Amino acid sequence: MTIGGATVAADTYIEVLNPANTKEVVGEAPVGTAKHLDQAVAAASQAFDSWRHSSDDDRVSACQAIAKVCTDNADELAVLLTREQGKPLGGLGSRFELGGCAGWAGYTASLSIPDKVLEDSDARHVVQTRVPLGVVGSITPWNWPLMIAIWHIVPGIRAGNAVVIKPSPFTPLSTLRMIELMNEVLPAGLVNVISGGDELGAELTDHSGIDKIVFTGSIATGKKVMASAATRITPVTLELGGNDAGILLPGEDPSKFAEGLFFGSMINSGQTCGALKRLYVHEDDLDATVEALVSFSANIPMGDGMDENSLLGPLQNERQFKRVIELVEDAKAAGGLCVTGGEPSNGPNYFYPVTFVTGISDGVRLVDEEQFGPVLPIVTYTDIDDAIDRANGLEFGLDASVWGSDDAETARIAAQLESGTVFVNKHADIAPNVPFGGIKCSGLGVEFAEEGLAAYTSIKIINKAA
Ligand code: NAD
Repeated sequence: MTIGGATVAADTYIEVLNPANTKEVVGEAPVGTAKHLDQAVAAASQAFDSWRHSSDDDRVSACQAIAKVCTDNADELAVLLTREQGKPLGGLGSRFELGGCAGWAGYTASLSIPDKVLEDSDARHVVQTRVPLGVVGSITPWNWPLMIAIWHIVPGIRAGNAVVIKPSPFTPLSTLRMIELMNEVLPAGLVNVISGGDELGAELTDHSGIDKIVFTGSIATGKKVMASAATRITPVTLELGGNDAGILLPGEDPSKFAEGLFFGSMINSGQTCGALKRLYVHEDDLDATVEALVSFSANIPMGDGMDENSLLGPLQNERQFKRVIELVEDAKAAGGLCVTGGEPSNGPNYFYPVTFVTGISDGVRLVDEEQFGPVLPIVTYTDIDDAIDRANGLEFGLDASVWGSDDAETARIAAQLESGTVFVNKHADIAPNVPFGGIKCSGLGVEFAEEGLAAYTSIKIINKAA
């Protein structure tokens, strides 16, 4: 772990396994305790005392230095990420993720929130400024561990805060290493990392020295984080689960959209919050849609991420592997047909093949719940307005998409879909200049762009008599 700029060992360690070969131990991760958490929060708090007064130039330089660390060490970090997370080195895998880290850090460096004069009158002169919050507690998941860490850390320090981050116990190693490297170029204590189990996350959100919580993970954990934050009214940003619906307009040629639909749902083997997770197609278009997707997927190799030919990797951990198996078996029992895939690997690994499921509808778990795997239910509709209602009918509201060549109709449907983002003729296309976040149970607040940066500040008004 890195606390106050120094490397810190733990008393106990857990093995991190390679999901492409679970007999291979990738490394051992420290199990941090409440004592380490206290030390990390104290180090961050001390760093904040001076960083809060740092110049804008210093903050920009620090964020740019982080971008450079990600670029300069991309090869090493990508290999570690592939070995512990499973995603391929190429394609939309580890090198892509490291590219995203550098891109987001660099863009976030360029952001700022200028002071605003709200009133300059005979009565008063009022200026709105933004001030940092203090110590940011960041908790990350295992699907895009490095990119999400950057999404939390860089706006945090750009806005003048210090950070304590706790990565997922499933993929701690790459984050521990990235932050160790960052500490070579940052002031001591500005970014601290402690690893440990779920209980350490709960201790972090409960800690009285934490002034802001940014959490990316499941809805169930997000609710606990929000409850914990409520005890001290700690500001939270919650980026939670999604069950994104896509609607294909009737009468379209699905082969035109096959690539976008495929990668929109299968990116990172489906282990992406904002992936397409249920596809609504007109009943007359079902066969052509299935055929287009199956034929596209035939050319997409899944395998060990260290193999340069692989474009998709395994599920990341046993819990997720079992969950995907359970949801597909439940769908089969409900009359679902796996037109391709549908059978897990025998191991020792967590590979699950690309699977398209037909013959089920809303009310079946695979449609109603977030599967987080390479399995896409394709459900039919007869009336497009009914499809919109069904897309909107769940607790989720991260993204949605509409696919078709009629611009007026796609715009009409986009306006009605209830989600933080609606994509048209694509899915899961995020960018650092575009705010991103969920509504309903998919989250609270946004990340990225000026609005995301503002979430690491509070408004301070200077109100002067004229
Ligand atoms: P998870 O909620 O199980 O764990 C996420 C993190 O929270 C881990 O670091 C874990 O140790 C920690 N944690 C667990 N219990 C905690 C508690 N009580 N208090 C504080 N921290 C605790 O999620 P996961 O399985 O790692 O990730 C998958 C989920 O994350 C999916 O639902 C996915 O959609 C979601 N996700 C959302 C986004 C987004 O931007 N909206 C991005 C990526 C992943």
